[in-house]
Amino acid sequence: MNLAIVGATGVVGREFIKVIEQRGLVFDSLRLFSSARSAGSSVTVCGKDYIVEELTEDVGEGIDIALFSAGGSTSLHFAPIFAKKGVLVVDNSSAWRMEPGVPLVVPEVNPGAAAAHKGIIANPNCSTIQSVVALKPLHDAYGLKRVVFSTYQAVSGAGINAIRDLQEGMLGKPPAHFKHPIAGNLIPQIDSFTDSGYTKEELKMIHETRKILGLPSLRVTATTVRVPVVNGHSISVNVEFERAFDLAELREVLRAAKGIEVMDDPAAGLYPMPITASGRDEVFIGRLRRDDSVESGLNMWCVADNIRKGAALNAIQIAELMF
Ligand code: NAP
Repeated sequence: MNLAIVGATGVVGREFIKVIEQRGLVFDSLRLFSSARSAGSSVTVCGKDYIVEELTEDVGEGIDIALFSAGGSTSLHFAPIFAKKGVLVVDNSSAWRMEPGVPLVVPEVNPGAAAAHKGIIANPNCSTIQSVVALKPLHDAYGLKRVVFSTYQAVSGAGINAIRDLQEGMLGKPPAHFKHPIAGNLIPQIDSFTDSGYTKEELKMIHETRKILGLPSLRVTATTVRVPVVNGHSISVNVEFERAFDLAELREVLRAAKGIEVMDDPAAGLYPMPITASGRDEVFIGRLRRDDSVESGLNMWCVADNIRKGAALNAIQIAELMF
């Protein structure tokens, strides 16, 4: 496999490299791309130094698979150029996710969708990925009727400059990336607002959840919030099911599901937190309890490493499906 990483110097790009090294992904050749800013810098992968190249329209030949994490506009422009040259693009941005004909894939949930690609496979939004890993086995067991997401999203989800805002904000410096200080604060806005009053991040969670689960009319809503945590997204997921459930049995359904670790012993103070999930592959679930305000309701707390399962790991799992 001839592999390329586009956006190799970013937060997700660097995590791609970590995951490749940790999983022992085998490749014949590797090329790393960035903008002109970082081109020429050296990055070590599996003990070998690689020079980062500037992404231009001339590159793409000889590459089998390209992992893109360089922002929506770069993906919009370059993914079709790569695809035309026979490269399979796995794209981390939101640019292609809702495009008909572009599979939106979470390997634990809808691996079969990947086969229908026409050169581009989209990696879903970070909060959506961890949510659907938890929702899919529950849907299979009890049928989803309505879902309410409330997120607590780490700054790493907004890239290097956002992490710097939190770190420097704790030293009293004003923000450079966010509109408001993130240190000692939280910001109930992720991405821009639409006319509906929802942010684009909230709409991504709603539409992508429906597409991945193959439930176009699922009733789902979301409020997404940035919190002063470096890494690891937490989500309160409120679910109403079509069918009655037994809580102990539901816990076993989640325990048996791929990619999930149930961590739920409130009496012992055991529940997942961002520091639990950071650096780990699994989606962690805790605080499982009935929502008695509806017929068959559940509240759960879902935590995952947004850079890893929410981005780099999921994309590499997709690559592993295809090669
Ligand atoms: P980041 O830390 O800001 O890194 C951006 C990367 O893209 C850098 O390597 C940058 O290169 C490169 N880049 C920027 N403009 C480019 C261009 N015109 N041509 C080639 N490379 C270019 O951002 P990130 O957090 O890694 O996110 C990257 C993408 O992944 C975004 O689309 C984001 O929405 C998506 N994503 C992020 C997360 C997350 O949790 N962070 C999760 C899912 C998806 P330079 O070093 O030269 O600037």
